[in-house]
Amino acid sequence: YDDRDGKIWLDGQMVDWRSANVHVLSHALHYASSVFEGERAYNGNIFLSRQHSERLHFSAGELDFQIPYTVDELEIAKAAVLKENGLTDAYVRAVAWRGAGEDMGVASARNPVRVAIAAWEWGSYYGDAKFKGAKIDIAKWKRPSPETIPVHAKAAGLYMICTTSKHAAEAKGCSDALFMDYRGYVAECTGANIFFVKDGEVHTPKADVFLNGLTRQTVIGMLQEKQIKVHERVIMPEELESFEQCWLTGTAAEVTPVGQIGDYNFEVGALTRSVSDDYEALVRR
Ligand code: PMP
Repeated sequence: YDDRDGKIWLDGQMVDWRSANVHVLSHALHYASSVFEGERAYNGNIFLSRQHSERLHFSAGELDFQIPYTVDELEIAKAAVLKENGLTDAYVRAVAWRGAGEDMGVASARNPVRVAIAAWEWGSYYGDAKFKGAKIDIAKWKRPSPETIPVHAKAAGLYMICTTSKHAAEAKGCSDALFMDYRGYVAECTGANIFFVKDGEVHTPKADVFLNGLTRQTVIGMLQEKQIKVHERVIMPEELESFEQCWLTGTAAEVTPVGQIGDYNFEVGALTRSVSDDYEALVRR
């Protein structure tokens, strides 16, 4: 991804894609002092753009730093990146981090906070699993306790075990891994939230110790509008067997049906299809 044409917004300037570099002594690279957003533009508009910029600010606050651009400034910058790169349907990545500076220890008050925004075309996150139903592994790691780390921030440090769990899943021929949380409850996948269907009603883990995804919130709202009952509750792994359908939600994943988790199989059913179609229609409206 680094050697290509295009422009990236870096600290308030549009720079060549190839020149959007950081120093090896960047604080974030050593200590994970980085927060980011994943967004999607449809027909030239970023879906829930402002909410993503607000979440970036929130995440930075959780890591004790301030983004030196307002939400309004980020909104203008994101639109400029899409325009500069001639993109209407694209994935947008905003990232903010503690850069290189006088501090090379854990403390970083004297180092500048840096911000970048890039956009590129990114098709279906789970490839053809989006149609057939994804095969999901169970992660060996657990989502951490809110007493351990700021679990609602979209922060780099929370993704270390996502990368290793996704690699382990892919090595077994799966598309992703499902995490339990530190209590042993069903939590989320490495970059997406999870939903289940039983007897025409929807069940999803309460987002108390992991990212309450914007797509998750959107889908819950869509279901409630259709008078479909959504239970946000504790889900135990033993229950997986009893669910009929399952899907994942995320900005990149959109609504992706799940066909299998570990030894359990799910049908790509009518409700899953309609949620996926309704989401597609909503983001393009
Ligand atoms: N959980 C994790 C760990 C994620 O990375 C994502 C993607 N941002 C989600 C859930 C879904 O969040 P959203 O719907 O806001 O993209």
